[in-house]
Amino acid sequence: MSAGPAGPAGPTGPWTSHETWVSLLLQALALKTMRTRPCLVLRHASIVVGADGLWSRVAREVDASTDTEQPSLSCGYYAYWSNVPTAGVEFHRRAGKVILVFPTHDDLTCIYVGLPCSETATYRADVRATYMAGLEVAPQLADRVRAGSQAEAFRGTNKLPNFYRRASGDGWALVGDAAYHRDPITGMGIGDAFLGAQLLADALALGFEGKTPLAESLAQYRRELRRQTQDVYDYTLKSAELLDPEPLMSFYCAIAADHDATRQLMNVVTGAQSFREFFNKATIARLTTASAA
Ligand SMILES: Cc1cc2nc3c(=O)[nH]c(=O)nc-3n(C[C@H](O)[C@H](O)[C@H](O)COP(=O)(O)OP(=O)(O)OC[C@H]3O[C@@H](n4cnc5c(N)ncnc54)[C@H](O)[C@@H]3O)c2cc1C
Repeated sequence: MSAGPAGPAGPTGPWTSHETWVSLLLQALALKTMRTRPCLVLRHASIVVGADGLWSRVAREVDASTDTEQPSLSCGYYAYWSNVPTAGVEFHRRAGKVILVFPTHDDLTCIYVGLPCSETATYRADVRATYMAGLEVAPQLADRVRAGSQAEAFRGTNKLPNFYRRASGDGWALVGDAAYHRDPITGMGIGDAFLGAQLLADALALGFEGKTPLAESLAQYRRELRRQTQDVYDYTLKSAELLDPEPLMSFYCAIAADHDATRQLMNVVTGAQSFREFFNKATIARLTTASAA
């Protein structure tokens, strides 16, 4: 993998003789190495895009800096269950607990039980007991789970850091979790990864078509990604603290009672609608009034 000229007629223009010699040398080295390690392949590109997730190797290689770092706030385990019917997606929130339930492939139901990160050691010590105890905050769900059967082993993590990485630089860009990672509690990672992919594709097109210098369009990508995700990032950090949701319950009940508001909130979660479009003063005031009525 190498960020450099794409070839003699590549988008960055003709190679200099120095670059040609360096390239020939690298190719010779690659050919030599391939005799012993046949999987090594040498490629040239004007830009390398790291869409390689939280532990991005590309980010490490380019030494991308991070900011607004916040360590993991929550931890959790999930499992797939059969014969646990659910009419749709369920969220159960209590102080120090979050439960997500959603139907998935093969008639299975995926159930995630999250706790504060400080409880990782207890959780790990007995995953099943802690998970089942967590479900008790939603007694009807706990009954359904007891009547069903676990289809796959528990999987979990407490490595859910929150940060922005510098998302572009000279010859490289990061996208998705590689660029920006936060607790999965809001379930918006995939929507944000698509948003980043679109913004980056637009920036690359502008650069490669010569409409804007590539360095400028990549800087614009970096700023725009931040601008369009910062609200969700802040909201996610608040949610992941797993504070007592009681003060917000009437607001969320008002959303649940309003078909259009529910649809809009789900659009926000999937990334189809911007956070600010929904969480604006007018909508909040309307729903708060409805919840007080
Ligand atoms: C427990 C949990 C629950 C979640 N629930 C949801 C949810 O309900 N909804 C939602 O939207 N989001 C959810 N997320 C977040 C979501 O999974 C991520 O935000 C999303 O997957 C990010 O996509 P990505 O493509 O950037 O990274 P990833 O999905 O991590 O993909 C990166 C890919 O790069 C590959 N890779 C890594 N290194 C290399 C390398 N050196 N060479 C080649 N390939 C490499 C990896 O194998 C991987 O396939 C959840 C996350 C967790 C941890």
